[in-house]
Amino acid sequence: MMLRLPLIAALTAGLGLAACSPAEPDAVVNVFSARHYASDQEVFRAFTEETGIRINLVEAGGDLLIERVRADGERSPADVIITVDAGRLHRAADAGLFQPLTRLDDVLARVPDILEHPQGLWFGFSTRARVIVYARDRVDPSEIQSYYDVASPAFEGRVCVRSSSNVYNQSLVAGMIAEDGAEAAEAFSAGIARNMARAPQGGDTDQIRAVAAGECDVAIVNHYYLARLMNAQDSADRTVGEAVGIVFPDQGQGGTYVNISGAGIAANAPNPEAARALLRFLMSERAQRAFAELTNEFPADPSVTYDNAVLDGFAGFEARELNVSALGDNAAEAQRIFDRTGWQ
Ligand code: FE
Repeated sequence: MMLRLPLIAALTAGLGLAACSPAEPDAVVNVFSARHYASDQEVFRAFTEETGIRINLVEAGGDLLIERVRADGERSPADVIITVDAGRLHRAADAGLFQPLTRLDDVLARVPDILEHPQGLWFGFSTRARVIVYARDRVDPSEIQSYYDVASPAFEGRVCVRSSSNVYNQSLVAGMIAEDGAEAAEAFSAGIARNMARAPQGGDTDQIRAVAAGECDVAIVNHYYLARLMNAQDSADRTVGEAVGIVFPDQGQGGTYVNISGAGIAANAPNPEAARALLRFLMSERAQRAFAELTNEFPADPSVTYDNAVLDGFAGFEARELNVSALGDNAAEAQRIFDRTGWQ
């Protein structure tokens, strides 16, 4: 994904103003975000409406975002860094790109501990479960209660999954390394590589569509892609959603792997006060609700209620009690496993 150059120009133009007068009405926060959801604009609009702080948004893929902040060093305009994966936040923390989250104790108190960096450099504001979807007419869900079932010989030639270069799969296997050891994770990866109905292509939505279309019988995807189809305006999309069922794997066996959308404050943030205000807002009831209602993510704050019947139907599963930073710790090992086992 390319950085949007006009946004960068806008961002640079806004900086002089912001650096001189962070508390003025034209205060600004520079957000480097790897989230790819148009509805975030509504969250950001609400933030500006409540605080008067403008948002300069730079969107790019997670690796590119982090590389850019790193390369710019002290001159980086980034105030808040947002990614859709704990692994990348972890990498950014290791590279020294975050400052400690201070004066946000009341905010962090609403974030479950397993969604926070152990030294308080970032936190998850929403969660996403890595689930199994299956063709209702061809698969009995009792056959796929564990991730490992999808890797079993019974599913040879029946699995759709996106590329291992995607961070969602990296984090899933990284979680397995943390929980079950590298050998078990490698056996899983080898089984998935063998079971693929086709070479990996497309994103998670494409895997769900392929199951509905009969190209494969099961897929591993993030839950919100299915929720989005089920909630779609387009009746053809809803038909896709109806053709498949969802399994939250490993219930009673450690729980379903969960990843985060998370944020931290850049080490060299020119507008740290505005950055804190945005992080505070991301955990506000209004923003938490928006994540559930607009992007079908689970709010990090479990006490928040929302209006989304599909998501309600998904809620209540047992999630893995694993600090999401473990996904970053094991990301490199996961990549080696993919390479060894031929998961493209
Ligand atoms: Fe996504």
